[in-house]
Amino acid sequence: MQLGNRLSGKVAIVTGAASGIGFETALLFAREDAKVVCADLNDKGANDTVQKITSLFGPDRAIAVKVDVSKEEQVEAMVQQAVTTFGKLDIMFNNAGIMHPADDNALNTEEKIWNLTMDINVKGVWFGCKHAILAMRKSGGGSIINTASFVALMGAATPQLAYTASKGAVLAMTRELAMVHARENIRFNSLCPGPIRTPLLMDFLNTEEKKQRRLVHVPQGRFGEAIEQANGALFLASDESSFVTGTDFRVDGGLSNAYVTPE
Ligand code: NAD
Repeated sequence: MQLGNRLSGKVAIVTGAASGIGFETALLFAREDAKVVCADLNDKGANDTVQKITSLFGPDRAIAVKVDVSKEEQVEAMVQQAVTTFGKLDIMFNNAGIMHPADDNALNTEEKIWNLTMDINVKGVWFGCKHAILAMRKSGGGSIINTASFVALMGAATPQLAYTASKGAVLAMTRELAMVHARENIRFNSLCPGPIRTPLLMDFLNTEEKKQRRLVHVPQGRFGEAIEQANGALFLASDESSFVTGTDFRVDGGLSNAYVTPE
């Protein structure tokens, strides 16, 4: 496969790189000539992503790191590993996240599900930002992209209270970080995917009826593909977006601006 050069000379960490959006983004960043740390709780999956990158683009472009993003010492070690192996950090894609099957409405969501969701989706993003900032200060700046969701922007009738609250927190946190660190040449943007055809969502929308209930709201009439999110992340990671910071960057098929009704 042909190599591009949109990320030549850059070092990136992608969390959640074993699956879905993270997997496609790790491949795309490598194709655009970045060195990529493929990080995931699922270390076999992260290693498979590295193997795929090696088979497509050649050796020494990627490493796998096992990380639980909700554990600060593991996140710190992941960033250290990136710097030790590739010399610096330019791009941090805090993308790992969960949508727990037991996440429900205000009455039925158990506190332990709320806490688990917040630990991974919010604290995990905070830890990723914190240690990326420390590394990026040493290399003169960088781009940090945090995966939020369209549910942070608009109400959904399907209850998933902890998930929705966690993604709202990602948006607010990202915006504040963008302002606080703007003069340090560290950019922060949220990626807001619409519903995407990845295991995370398809496991949740596991009947045709549930799928159609969502699709009726998507102007483009289909679920997005993970590669379409990866393309958004690539723009935000590259110098092409050098004057873009603090945005809620939507890749959602028009969903968040839609007023559509069933035919
Ligand atoms: P996915 O389930 O396919 O991939 C998520 C990856 O994160 C998995 O490989 C998983 O092992 C990893 N992970 C989970 N917990 C972790 C932890 N504690 N530490 C490290 N890694 C962990 O999901 P996806 O659809 O690719 O989702 C990626 C991101 O996009 C998530 O933040 C998700 O909330 C968000 N998102 C997805 C959709 C969608 O429709 N799929 C829509 C909006 C937002």
